[in-house]
Amino acid sequence: MLKTQEIESKIALNLLAWFDKSGRTLPWRTRGKRDPYKVWLAEIMLQQTTVAAVIPYYRKFLDLYPDVRTLAQAPLEEVLHHWAGLGYYARARNLHACANVVARDNGGKFPETEAGLLKLPGIGAYTAAAIAAIAFDEKTTVVDGNVERVASRLFAVTAPLPKSKTKLKTLTSTLTPEQRPGDFAEAMMDLGATVCTPKSPDCKACPVGDLCQGFEKGIQDTLPRRDKAKPRPVRRGFVYWLEDNGKVLVRRRPEKGLLGGMLELPTSVWVEGDPGHAKPAGGKWQKLDGTIGHTFTHFHLELEVFKGQGPAEGQWIAKDELLSAGFPTVMKKVIRKVLS
Ligand code: SF4
Repeated sequence: MLKTQEIESKIALNLLAWFDKSGRTLPWRTRGKRDPYKVWLAEIMLQQTTVAAVIPYYRKFLDLYPDVRTLAQAPLEEVLHHWAGLGYYARARNLHACANVVARDNGGKFPETEAGLLKLPGIGAYTAAAIAAIAFDEKTTVVDGNVERVASRLFAVTAPLPKSKTKLKTLTSTLTPEQRPGDFAEAMMDLGATVCTPKSPDCKACPVGDLCQGFEKGIQDTLPRRDKAKPRPVRRGFVYWLEDNGKVLVRRRPEKGLLGGMLELPTSVWVEGDPGHAKPAGGKWQKLDGTIGHTFTHFHLELEVFKGQGPAEGQWIAKDELLSAGFPTVMKKVIRKVLS
């Protein structure tokens, strides 16, 4: 019978061998030493976002900003414009702030340790561990949602998330090898994304199937367990489409807060009670039928749309340029509704 340590190192070895043959081919993965700028850019974009959604944005950003200095020199508004549609806009502002710190204070070089990376804007525990492992081969423990799922199954952890997070991280750290920790992190992520999937893990094809306690006990489909999530609150708001001579009144949201610095059509506040009207000065207003629904991480939003005729003070954009002007997705939904 294998000892615990032998099982752990066999899991790592099997996963690395599988990764070499079957790991995903992704644009930010290159053979040999990895460029920290590219690793960082991809990891920031991948936070809360699918690989499929990230790939075109990653390619666009690399074309526009091939290194950290070009990104730092770009105006923030331009970066936000190119980020539009990818969501979680605080990431774009932090991306720009981080590029500035690296270019200005660090001579264009990213810190090479998890601890150093953690000090940069927008780099949290997961991202610091991932960049340190993938770009600099530091033996860190990289745990995202995919890895939590794989670890909970490998070790048959039945305690529910989020309470079991620390335990899953400790267990993952026992697997992380001295050699190739970055490849190991990506192998765990890839296994979670392609084999050990949430609904139907393909245990028969799994490179660590014979070492997996969840599979052995037949409980893999039920893991990880989770405490019941609280239902998302619903907020309401009004949004105003003011038109004059083929142009539409727009404004920029405050730098801080939700969708900070992004373009929007004028809106009321978004609250759970009565949002109260904050219509821009204009002519008669007509309420459009139905509402626009959009779900953010912490709440669901229902917007009622009002249409009016200008003129008014402010920034105007031609109607046919609105959809390419860099609005966030919730505003694009409003624009599409009015234009339809
Ligand atoms: Fe996941 Fe099944 Fe592999 Fe275990 S054997 S890690 S449950 S795919």
